[in-house]
Amino acid sequence: MRKIAILGSTGSIGTQTLSVVREQGDIGVAALAAGSNTVLLERQIREFSPELVCVWEEAAAARLRESIADLSVRVVSGMEGLLEVAVYPKSELLVTAIVGMLGIRPTIAAIQAGKKIALANKETLVTAGHLIMPLARERGVPILPVDSEHSAIFQSLQGAVYDGGRNRIEKILLTASGGPFRGKKREELADIQVEDALRHPNWSMGKKITIDSSTLVNKGLEVMEAKWLFGVEPERIQVVVHPQSVIHSAVEYEDGAVIAQLGTPDMRLPIQYALYYPERRPLSGERLDLFALGQLTFERPDLDTFRGLPLAYEAMRRGGNIPTAFNAANERAVALFLERKIAYPQITEIIAACMEEASYQEAPDLDAILETEASAYEYIARRWGEV
Ligand code: NAD
Ligand code: MG
Repeated sequence: MRKIAILGSTGSIGTQTLSVVREQGDIGVAALAAGSNTVLLERQIREFSPELVCVWEEAAAARLRESIADLSVRVVSGMEGLLEVAVYPKSELLVTAIVGMLGIRPTIAAIQAGKKIALANKETLVTAGHLIMPLARERGVPILPVDSEHSAIFQSLQGAVYDGGRNRIEKILLTASGGPFRGKKREELADIQVEDALRHPNWSMGKKITIDSSTLVNKGLEVMEAKWLFGVEPERIQVVVHPQSVIHSAVEYEDGAVIAQLGTPDMRLPIQYALYYPERRPLSGERLDLFALGQLTFERPDLDTFRGLPLAYEAMRRGGNIPTAFNAANERAVALFLERKIAYPQITEIIAACMEEASYQEAPDLDAILETEASAYEYIARRWGEV
């Protein structure tokens, strides 16, 4: 039986990955890692029988060891533990479903160990795409996108390769729902509360990405993710607001043909496609009903209100470690907003300030990426006080 490992098994992508595994029944789970939800992790251990699990904090890992003393599962903790899960010999594919730059080191380690990557953790490509993509090519490891838009692009590219090479991508049409504040103007964002921002119209996801979707920072991260995954220059990636989230993204070729992937909003499809690529399997759930939908609509993104998106394009244009400054600032700002320590519009203010403040480095290695992250955190603490 093929076996996989999952980083972030208790989260939104992690649990949906396990639901695909449960429904298909022919993939085994070799190793799991989670943050702090040991109650759910224990249930997953009892259902899927991994041999190795990682819990971030050692104290929580110790408690878990006691409550599963009847099983022969090894429980590890911390970054060392995450790295062990990432390279676990019996797994052939790693699903990266943790949030943020924390995923960089385990992703790199997994590629070095020859694991296929089903990549949900977009922050790793945004900040370290220039290290990860060449390494994956060198090791012959596929990076299979789990993000719904990137899976749609990947699906739309099937058939692009022919005997003589590969058909050129003229443009990528990256769709965006527009989030819960679509149609609002900049001044109307001032008193948005955490609860408002967590109410996404079409998708149920982890908190960080839900906030990112509301600010359109998520779309900015996705433009950078697409650049690395598909080797397309940012000018060729166009964000299209499409509130129904039915067209998950599209590729325009040189002859003007636009190939898209459509479906109901259900993350299990891109997850399953990544797990079984290039095979398609049956999948339970609702089917797309065009008659019930009636119409699909499209708008340009409002770049004046949602500054996160133009800031992402600027970060990409400047390159080097600036996307890391963008991403690290956003990770910290979103955490502060969730803790109710800053106001909603400050998220993009903090991103802009950290991009301004960062000292430019052209091709940062892993240490320089992590230093840029630490500098952004320090700067935020200094400038925004005891937050
Ligand atoms: P989530 O918050 O629901 O889950 C995060 C998971 O990571 C949890 O299992 C948590 O326990 C684990 N985790 C957190 N800190 C950890 C640590 N220190 N060590 C080990 N595990 C830790 O997040 P999510 O929505 O599933 O998103 C995961 C990633 O996938 C993000 O990068 C996100 O941008 C991307 N993504 C998510 C969706 C979605 O529909 N949820 C769609 C596209 C892309
Ligand atoms: Mg997405």
